[in-house]
Amino acid sequence: GGGGGGVGKLERILVSVRLRPLSGKEILRGDPSEWECINDTTVISRSTFPDRPSAPTAYSFDRVFHSDCDTKEVYKQGAKEVALSVVSGINSSIFAYGQTSSGKTYTMTGITEYTVADIYDYIGKHEERAFVLKFSAIEIYNEVVRDLLTAENIPLRLWDDAEKGTYVENLAEVVLRDWDHLKELISVCEAQRKTGETYLNENSSRSHQILKLTIESSAREFLGKDKSTTLVASVNFVDLAGSERASQALSAGARLKEGCHINRSLLTLGTVIRKLSKVRNGHIPYRDSKLTRILQPSLGGNARTAIICTMSPARSHMEQSRNTLLFASCAK
Ligand code: ADP
Ligand code: MG
Repeated sequence: GGGGGGVGKLERILVSVRLRPLSGKEILRGDPSEWECINDTTVISRSTFPDRPSAPTAYSFDRVFHSDCDTKEVYKQGAKEVALSVVSGINSSIFAYGQTSSGKTYTMTGITEYTVADIYDYIGKHEERAFVLKFSAIEIYNEVVRDLLTAENIPLRLWDDAEKGTYVENLAEVVLRDWDHLKELISVCEAQRKTGETYLNENSSRSHQILKLTIESSAREFLGKDKSTTLVASVNFVDLAGSERASQALSAGARLKEGCHINRSLLTLGTVIRKLSKVRNGHIPYRDSKLTRILQPSLGGNARTAIICTMSPARSHMEQSRNTLLFASCAK
C-alpha cells in the first residue's frame, strides 16, 4: 500500500477477503472447499494450480474472514472505521468486489445497515450537534446511470460543477427518518434492480450499485447563524458488477466491444485503485469511467476506502477466486 509519510497523512486502502460458505448446490455436486484461512490475515489454496505450479498459494491482506464469520464481524474489522469517518466530515467508500454469487450483495447490505445503525447511535450520543442524513441510490449499467429510487427508467447525465464537482443530474435524494426508513429504501432499490434484470438480462451481475449516505451536521449553538461550522461528508456503499466481467472483457479483446463497454467502470476502478495504493501522485484516470467520476470525491485525497473481496470457497470457482485475490493484492 501507499502508506503514510510526506505531506499530510495518507491512509492506506483497507483490503479484506471474505469466503462465503459452500452453497447447497456446491455441496450437492461434491464441489470441495479449495481455500482456507490459516489465520486472521492469510488465505491459502489447498491445491496448486496445475498450469502454474510455481504460483504463490498464500495471500495476505489486512483481514481475511472464513466461511463461518458473520457480516457483523466483517463490518467491525473490515469496514466500520472507514465508514464511520463520515461523522467526522471525511468522505469514504466501501466496495464489494468479486464474481457473481460470491456474496457481494449479501455483504454490502449488512454493512450498510450496520453503518447506519452505528451512525444513529453516534447521533444519539451527540446532542450538541444537529444531524441530517440523506440517501440516494444509483445503478450504472453499460456506462448508463439510472436512479434506483424512482420508477422511471431515465438515463441520468453527469455534470461537472466548479463548486460541487461531478454530480448526477436530477437524482432523488431522500432525507432519512430513521433506520427502518433506510430498510424500506434498500428494498425499493432491490426491487428496481430486479425490474431492470428481467429486460436487461443478468442485469445485476453486470451493473454497479452505489448507495450513498450524506451526513450534514452543525453545532446547535451555531444553527442557522454560521454555515462555516457545518460538516458535510458522504459514505458510498458500492456493490460492483461481477468481477468475471472484467476478466472476460480483457481476454476477449477488441472483438467483444459490448463486454469492454460494460466493464469500462470496473476496469477503470481497478486502475484507479492500483494507482492510489501505490504512489499517490501522477495521473489518476478518474475521468475514464462513470463509476470513478462519480466516486472521485470519495476515492483518494483525504477520503478513506475499504474493499471487501468476496469469494466462493468451491474448487470449481478456483480460477475466478484467484483473479479476485490478485485484484485484492494489487489494492493493498
Ligand atoms: P453476489 O451479489 O456476489 O452475486 P449474493 O450476495 O447474491 O452474491 O450471494 C449469493 C448467494 O449466497 C445468496 O443466496 C446469498 O444469500 C448467499 N450468501 C452469500 N454470502 C453468504 C454468507 N457469508 N453466508 C451465507 N450465505 C451467503
Ligand atoms: Mg449481487
